[in-house]
Amino acid sequence: MHARRRPAFATGPWAAVVYRFGMADQLQMYIDGAWVDARSGDRFDTTDPATGAVLASIPRAGSDDVELAVAAARRTFDDGTWGSAVAERDRAAILFRMAELVRAQQRELAELEVRDCGKPIGDAMGDIAEVAFMFEYYAGWATKISGDIPPVGPDAMSLIVKEPVGVCGLIVPWNYPMLMAAQKVAPALATGCTVVLKPAEQTPLTALRMAAIAEQAGIPAGVFNVVTGIGAEAGAPLLTHPGVDKISFTGSKAVGQMIQRTCADQLKRVTLELGGKSPNIVFADAALDRAIPGTSLGIFGNQGEVCSAGSRVFVHRSVYDDVLQGMTDFAAGMKLGSGLDPETTMGPLVSAQQRDRVQAYIDSGPADGATLAYAGQRPDDPALAGGYFVPPTIFEATNGVRIAREEIFGPVAAVIPFSDLDEVVTMSNDTEYGLAAAIWTRDIGLALRTARAVRAGVVWINDSQPAPSETMWGGYKQSGIGRELGPYALDAYLETKQIYINLG
Ligand code: ADP
Repeated sequence: MHARRRPAFATGPWAAVVYRFGMADQLQMYIDGAWVDARSGDRFDTTDPATGAVLASIPRAGSDDVELAVAAARRTFDDGTWGSAVAERDRAAILFRMAELVRAQQRELAELEVRDCGKPIGDAMGDIAEVAFMFEYYAGWATKISGDIPPVGPDAMSLIVKEPVGVCGLIVPWNYPMLMAAQKVAPALATGCTVVLKPAEQTPLTALRMAAIAEQAGIPAGVFNVVTGIGAEAGAPLLTHPGVDKISFTGSKAVGQMIQRTCADQLKRVTLELGGKSPNIVFADAALDRAIPGTSLGIFGNQGEVCSAGSRVFVHRSVYDDVLQGMTDFAAGMKLGSGLDPETTMGPLVSAQQRDRVQAYIDSGPADGATLAYAGQRPDDPALAGGYFVPPTIFEATNGVRIAREEIFGPVAAVIPFSDLDEVVTMSNDTEYGLAAAIWTRDIGLALRTARAVRAGVVWINDSQPAPSETMWGGYKQSGIGRELGPYALDAYLETKQIYINLG
């Protein structure tokens, strides 16, 4: 039933229902300011990856539902409800309110995230804090987007103005569910675009909560819509719908390629944030007391389910044994368990399918010529027997083996020795990807020479993985198209218009 009613759990009480996880509950999605089921009535379950237990039943949207969501976003874009008829400062005020509401619910949202995707609670708390800041940061930008007046002589004026691109289909993955959603939703709303958000089917809960927060903050009905469902059913119709102007996608390379091809038909604007096989380079003079934990967290943090994970660990031969031993000790010290346990440093992978994929890569390593250096243990708690755990795993490898070439998206490190700068730069760049790189050395000249030589969108020196909202994110080569974060994300949601005036 496509009921246009608002159930009791739409805002405040909804939080409590989800929070307590009496979750035989049937949640609804958010279209045109109403909490609704799929028109077909179809549903799917989202599960707790630590136990395999069902968390909640979620509407399984199809093209009918996407049609309604796009129509709402189209209407509210075209009539100026959010964009052209609203003062920028009023848009900003609502986004600031969203930031406040996220911050006030940080703990609940973090627990929701942990239950849905498995990550440790401390990490989830960090994600949600960044979500709040993301809304604040782009709320600030809403009043600061301006154009230019290039000189065209005494008899004319030219005004370059920035305008929102229109209706945006935002398709996001399951590894940082609310953060990846905010990374697109906040700049899209700040520029005056309207939105249809499609969360990953594995992790829809915080996207639905984001809708409740948007509603509470005063985003007008129709401006921000969330359709839940399977990619091919609830995501694909956004790609072909003529009412959608822009697709921004974060996810796998295969789906990204398909999106680019499909969107070419209508020349939709496309931003793609795809995979990586990022090098993590430890030079001979690196401060190993920082490089070893940094390198280890670069691949084992967030269970390795990170597009920029430092999955290829290049280590100078003079410190190779020390780094390998240090990473092994670090991995052995990780505590696998439920993400809700504050002691846990590594949670389960997001799904049985992802666990099986990662395990298949681990199984392929020795046959392919890589040497297994360390394999951790699953948690022994019987309550977690049904969980999708894959312990941290370290291989000694060469750059040519499959586990060093293909994105695994799990806690699997390929450690590879090198002798000199040329060799490590060549190996680092010998990949189809170009998302990120980490460099560990005390020699600033060497660090910067390497940073310039590596073909990657993001380079960390003496660190791994920070991605503050004020900065920039995006990949070279097959890691994506376009840029996110900072002012760079705004461009993805803006068109540029020239108005030429003859003064004669
Ligand atoms: P993964 O393989 O890591 O699950 P995907 O790239 O399949 O990553 O998924 C990322 C997002 O893309 C999810 O929201 C998913 O539902 C969506 N998606 C998957 N397939 C399609 C598709 N054919 N069309 C549109 N969206 C899709």
